Amino acid sequence: MQDIKSNIEAIRSQLPPHVTLIAVSKTKPNELLMEAYAAGQRDFGENYVQELEQKAAQLPKDIRWHFIGHLQSNKVKYIAPFVHLIHAVDSIKLLAEIDKQAAKNQRRLDVLLQVHVAMEETKFGWDADELFAQSKALLGFANARVVGLMAMASNTTDEVQLAREFDRVSDLLHRLHAEYPAHKNELRIMSMGMSGDWPLAVAHGSTMIRVGSTIFGARQYLNQ
Ligand SMILES: *Cc1c(COP(=O)(O)O)cnc(C)c1O
Repeated sequence: MQDIKSNIEAIRSQLPPHVTLIAVSKTKPNELLMEAYAAGQRDFGENYVQELEQKAAQLPKDIRWHFIGHLQSNKVKYIAPFVHLIHAVDSIKLLAEIDKQAAKNQRRLDVLLQVHVAMEETKFGWDADELFAQSKALLGFANARVVGLMAMASNTTDEVQLAREFDRVSDLLHRLHAEYPAHKNELRIMSMGMSGDWPLAVAHGSTMIRVGSTIFGARQYLNQ
């Protein structure tokens, strides 16, 4: 069996203090999440609404739950009462719904805008032009607060390409800072880097890495 505690400690020992490690626990059973919890891990990332709801109901209340998957507007209501950060906001419609559900729950909801920097066409997220065309509206919600950017880099081992993509995320954040100085302090998170590329992501400015298989072992999906 994989040793979750040592996997987490090995990553933490290499992380600068300002970088948050999110343990991506999708498809993994509660027992394994509790092993990570026992090792001091409090930030967990999930991709599926129903799975997240079940885990949040059963596991300790001081866990910070990150929703890192593609979120449908009609499902925001299920996670709005308790979610810590929603990473992959890719439309105004979704953000408007998050704002509405935040108000209903009398809380503020923090979100990241997913930006598209990878070579693959299929990945979700804003292109730079779309982002800046809508940025004023995106930053204008009262209850849904944009606190940074999230990205998935290309599925490649080409470090030059990966570095270029991480740098593009950082450029976009700096452009937002320049255009909206009043939002500079709250626009502080760059969620980028996964099992295969997190050291490079951190070297290129990531403040939040999302690591699954290096902590919990490879995922097995049914029906695949
Ligand atoms: C599954 C997933 C991860 C973690 O992937 P690993 O390669 O297992 O570390 C990170 N980010 C997102 C958005 C994911 O869906």
